[in-house]
Amino acid sequence: MQQVTVVGAGVVGLCTAFFLQHSGYSVLLMDARQPAEGCSKGNAGHFATEQVFPLADPSLLRQLPALLLQANSPLKIRASYLLQSLPWFCRFIGNMTPAKQQALQAALSQLNGSSIASWQKLATLCQSQDLFRYHGALLVSEQPNQQSLQQQYQKYRMAGIDVSLLDAAETMALEPLLANSISGSLNFTEVAHTVDPWLLCQRIFAAFKAAGGQWLQSTLVAINPGTPVQLVTSTSSFSTGHLVICAGAHSAALTTQLGWRIPLEAERGYHLMAQDVGLNRPVSSLERKFIMTPMQNGLRLAGTAEFSGLDAAPDFRRAHLLIDHARSLLSATVKPAEPVTVWFGNRPSLPDSLPVLGSCPVHSGIHYNFGHQHLGLTQAAYSAELITQSLRGNLPRGKLDPFRIERFGQYRRQKMQA
Ligand SMILES: Cc1cc2nc3c(=O)[nH]c(=O)nc-3n(C[C@H](O)[C@H](O)[C@H](O)COP(=O)(O)OP(=O)(O)OC[C@H]3O[C@@H](n4cnc5c(N)ncnc54)[C@H](O)[C@@H]3O)c2cc1C
Repeated sequence: MQQVTVVGAGVVGLCTAFFLQHSGYSVLLMDARQPAEGCSKGNAGHFATEQVFPLADPSLLRQLPALLLQANSPLKIRASYLLQSLPWFCRFIGNMTPAKQQALQAALSQLNGSSIASWQKLATLCQSQDLFRYHGALLVSEQPNQQSLQQQYQKYRMAGIDVSLLDAAETMALEPLLANSISGSLNFTEVAHTVDPWLLCQRIFAAFKAAGGQWLQSTLVAINPGTPVQLVTSTSSFSTGHLVICAGAHSAALTTQLGWRIPLEAERGYHLMAQDVGLNRPVSSLERKFIMTPMQNGLRLAGTAEFSGLDAAPDFRRAHLLIDHARSLLSATVKPAEPVTVWFGNRPSLPDSLPVLGSCPVHSGIHYNFGHQHLGLTQAAYSAELITQSLRGNLPRGKLDPFRIERFGQYRRQKMQA
């Protein structure tokens, strides 16, 4: 039986370990922490398959000055991090040409289009169907003339997304607790949500272990490529037939050792838990750029994008802002959960909004599955299936081309750490 080590036990690494094991590999899963203690712990739980547009949208350029100056803006670049993040933003803007937009949208549609089917398969295998809801999702607008909402509607329709445009009364009929300020919404029916993303990860982990998967809590410190691949961790050294890097926002530190400098940024988001108000489905706001997801332990208010580097101290004022937004969107009284629970996570974001997915073209036995930005939960199961098929050599030629690591430029020979 071939041996694979998966580094990173976030939702991406867990799904990867699970599907590899299911296809017959002997799998060791390792993480510096317990499973799902990183970005996968507190996300908004939305299987957002409708989000097929790269984040590098040219309309952002017009909004940027306001976004950077508003105190409660959904986007923040910390002054101390401005220079460091500049190269990432230059690449980001470089992805705003119509040709790139079209290619990136096609690649995202490919991943998102198969995501829910893949999750359903995994949920059945892990007996976790109870954590899934198929109630659709709303994108609401407070703009009286609905101009932006109609533009969005056309954009989604052109992209082949199942969506309907609802007026205020139709929106209210679906979610009676929304405020009167809501002028309309987009209703996405082919999406889903989980009532507990952390518990979903624990279920995958439990199923993986029950089927004989091995677990190691340790930090991967050095990778020495070769056949087999040699790994040095904070607690031991060992060799493995294959290594799959699923280390989320920390993945670039590992790929640098292998000669790839990847423009991976930690795009930080926050959540605040509110007491349940009785929403039926995730509701996000077009103008306020945040989401409210009904979960089994309350209403999760999540969002914001902050560029401050991986290790910066969190600014939980950004989480507390979310409750003001929720109060504006809901007629129901919104109270923070007791005790007050705030959280932050580092989204692993690349400037083209695509993950790095596939085998290393330079070092045999090394594979990549990271960088799923705002869509890591959505895409985790399907990208895990793709990487499993890639290891097995079962993928149609060219299937992973848009996602390959070499799209970021030249491989540089590095002095490997001992
Ligand atoms: C506020 C917020 C809301 C979100 N909402 C959604 C949503 O609704 N839908 C959606 O699809 N996505 C959402 N996301 C994005 C999603 O959460 C992420 O894309 C996803 O969790 C990334 O998963 P991951 O497994 O790649 O990374 P992580 O969950 O961060 O896991 C990486 C793991 O690697 C480990 N690791 C790193 N380096 C090493 C090392 N050297 N050795 C050992 N272990 C290591 C870390 O400890 C960590 O556990 C949201 C994100 C945020 C912040």
